[in-house]
Amino acid sequence: MICDDVKRVAYFFLDGKLGENKQNDFKTHVSICPDCEQRVSIHRRLRLFICKRLSRDSAPQRLRQRLARSFRGLTSET
Ligand SMILES: [Zn+2]
Repeated sequence: MICDDVKRVAYFFLDGKLGENKQNDFKTHVSICPDCEQRVSIHRRLRLFICKRLSRDSAPQRLRQRLARSFRGLTSET
């Protein structure tokens, strides 16, 4: 696997959608290539961020209200 391959399949890797062989190739390359390692860790953080946003937006209304209340409590805005 080369750097271009890593760029192309990074999302699939993080989704767990790569085949076992490709996944191993991917990991091997990332472990020896600092550029790709950094790229993958950026992708991973971005994904986590997006996942959190999505799950927050689709959280049940009651939960959101409760969170909003406790947030207001923290900021003491009433
Ligand atoms: Zn690379």
